[in-house]
Amino acid sequence: MRVITVFLALLLAAVASPARAQPALLGEDTESIRLDPHLTYAIDPDGRADAAAMYARAGRGEFEPLPDGSSTFGFSDGAYWFHTEIFNSHAELQRWLLVLHYPLLDNVDIYLRYPNGRVEHMATGDALPFSARSISYRQPNFWLELPQRTRVELLVRVSSRSSMQVPLVLYTPTAFAERERDAQLGIGLFYGILIALFCYNLVLWLSLRDASHFWYMFHVAGFGLVVLCLNGLAFEYLWPNSPWLANYSIPLSMAISQIAMHQFARVFLELRERIPWADRVTLVIIAFYVLMGLGSLVLEYRTVVLPMTLAVFPGALYILALTVMSLRRGYAPAKIFLLAWSCLLFGTALYALVSFGILPKNFFTEYGIQIGSALEMILLSFALAYRYARLRSENETLVREHNEQLERHVARRTSELSTALEQLAEANQRLRESNRRDALTGLFNRRHFRDLFEHQMHHATEHRQTLGVLLIDLDHFKRVNDTYGHLAGDECLRWLGRCLGDTLSVHGAVIARFGGEEFVAVVPDMQGDRLLHLAEQLRVRICSEPVRYAGNNIGISASIGAFALHPGAGIGVDEALHRADDALYAAKDRGRNCVHAAEDITS
Ligand code: GH3
Ligand code: MG
Ligand code: MG
Repeated sequence: MRVITVFLALLLAAVASPARAQPALLGEDTESIRLDPHLTYAIDPDGRADAAAMYARAGRGEFEPLPDGSSTFGFSDGAYWFHTEIFNSHAELQRWLLVLHYPLLDNVDIYLRYPNGRVEHMATGDALPFSARSISYRQPNFWLELPQRTRVELLVRVSSRSSMQVPLVLYTPTAFAERERDAQLGIGLFYGILIALFCYNLVLWLSLRDASHFWYMFHVAGFGLVVLCLNGLAFEYLWPNSPWLANYSIPLSMAISQIAMHQFARVFLELRERIPWADRVTLVIIAFYVLMGLGSLVLEYRTVVLPMTLAVFPGALYILALTVMSLRRGYAPAKIFLLAWSCLLFGTALYALVSFGILPKNFFTEYGIQIGSALEMILLSFALAYRYARLRSENETLVREHNEQLERHVARRTSELSTALEQLAEANQRLRESNRRDALTGLFNRRHFRDLFEHQMHHATEHRQTLGVLLIDLDHFKRVNDTYGHLAGDECLRWLGRCLGDTLSVHGAVIARFGGEEFVAVVPDMQGDRLLHLAEQLRVRICSEPVRYAGNNIGISASIGAFALHPGAGIGVDEALHRADDALYAAKDRGRNCVHAAEDITS
């Protein structure tokens, strides 16, 4: 019986209007049915026609079948009208859900004409508040009352500034619920991943203050927003009462996501340092999207969305090319970046191939963009971590090298410093020594002699020793100078110095030039006859040998005053020298070239 009814309906449709498409038959087994193959359409260029007129036109067969069976028309003005007949032969089900799987349409009106001539009208689209929808769902939808075994004429009017895509599908409530359960889970997963990555990188950015994490967040947020707008969730959850925002959010979110994408690539690939020309090109691209974003507020929807849509794919390819270039120049983090980017492009390509009907529609192809971008975001997060680790190890190497260099430098400077210190100490020693010595004879000078004499006096007092003091003065030295010259006199003084050293050093004597041609010697543990004998030995040695200078033999002699300083005698340095000087004067008085002892040289 039912088969006959269906057959009759088909026959009726064929006879009534040969231009009409086949009616959509809802059978016992039907769970969902795409209306595309059953639609005819007509364009109403100024958008003024009403339903009655269009029903009439459809009745006259003025509606055309869909071009290539596709309900996608691109950007177009005016209103599009679609017509079909629906025949419900389901035993129980009267209420079916009509879903328009494209959420960006501004105005969608549907008209149902029943055989009794009653026409029911419903309207939705994102130019109306979200509450106008039959069920709270991100895509436009309508409950259709389809009485059993009744032919109902469906007329759909669509006008929109967005591209014209009208994929209509009719569902049983059960089939729709089952389909949506999977989609909802997938969408939830997608946004869960995005939110987790966003928060993770927010924490990283706050703690590391590395700008790349900020731009990554911007990229995630921008991309998330664009997908949210495209699948209708932004209108459903973010601004259900603002048709204005629902429309402007599309170009705005597109611009924001593209700015974020290029800026992130720019920072991540370090274009400014690594490929400066690409950095400038990227800035120009970013400027283009900033202009488009601002332009979307004042310009026609189509004027901004069309160029942006056209620029998205070349922009992604451009970033791909830069990534490959960076990789070839040895920038290792670009490896993961490339993988991430490929995931997104692959997912997008899958989606595009489905749209063109080249690939069959399944979960992976339909949600290609979402899956690809989720993978992309996860990989990019890895890429950031990798890049950070690399930066840190580079920094550590730099610090280590710097430290080693510093240590080497410090070691070199320390050794230079210690050498300089040694040289300084030597110079100081030499200076101190030369301060103590007489320049002409090399013997101690008078000032240092005093210190040594005092020291010897202490030592002698402690050990109860007598010190022998000899004061030696050359006789008539003035004459030597006068006769042979001053330089000859100097040579005589040097010779005398050597003579004193040779004779007295063996006795541990301290010898010094006392002034002019006068010398002094202090001999430890020396007194009485031993002292006199030593002085005499010295005197004889001085006069026994002439000084040879410039071919002259210069005979010299000396007078010597001797004094013995006994321990505990209460005589100081000055007094002792004074006594020796007295003895020297006495020797001069006695006719020179002789030794005279102070009276108490024996103990
Ligand atoms: P006397 O026997 O009384 O000591 O006679 P004298 O000529 O040695 O004594 P006087 O004190 O009159 O003269 C000392 C001379 O020693 C005067 C000075 O020209 C000379 N004289 C002092 N210091 C130097 C010196 O460094 N080099 C030379 N060539 N002569 C010196
Ligand atoms: Mg003299
Ligand atoms: Mg003299």
